[in-house]
Amino acid sequence: MKEPISKRPAIFLDRDGTLIEDQHYPRDPKKVQWIPGAESALKDLQKLGFVLFVVSNQSGVGRGIISDSEFRAVHERFCELLKESGIEVQEFAYCFHKPEDLCKCRKPETKLIHDLAKTHSIDLSQSYTIGDKWSDVLMGFRSGAQGILLSLATPEPAPQELGPQNQSVFATWLEAVDFIQRSKKN
Ligand SMILES: [Mg+2]
Ligand SMILES: [Zn+2]
Repeated sequence: MKEPISKRPAIFLDRDGTLIEDQHYPRDPKKVQWIPGAESALKDLQKLGFVLFVVSNQSGVGRGIISDSEFRAVHERFCELLKESGIEVQEFAYCFHKPEDLCKCRKPETKLIHDLAKTHSIDLSQSYTIGDKWSDVLMGFRSGAQGILLSLATPEPAPQELGPQNQSVFATWLEAVDFIQRSKKN
């Protein structure tokens, strides 16, 4: 048995509308395109020592709007983009349920982030979630990570569960990475 390794910090990234352009039920791999700033942000976060994960709600699959093969094609195209840029995502975690399924993995529920943290020895208190919806921020808050809202438009009002101190909102990837860099605990 190996000695337990020290826990690492991670970034749990939303996919659609955060890393790639939101297609609203994405089905077409040809439409998979980086959100401005996301590609270099991931490279910077990687250099800062963060393990990268993608956590994404894909209820279109559960609703039958996106077929399994369409889902896979979009996923694989996204993986190609990451590979071309030398970005390593440790693991992708997807929830395919509909909201009414009341599963434990659909954001803002925390099963996916907790499972990833456990499997990969992640220190959630030094980790961040980043997404374009408050559910992304809430998942971070509920799991002991810091949630960041990346919102290009005026964001919706925050859910009550989040106190004002848990509302880090940035309009660009550059600002979000700068914030993380400044607040990183060494
Ligand atoms: Mg999103
Ligand atoms: Zn689920």
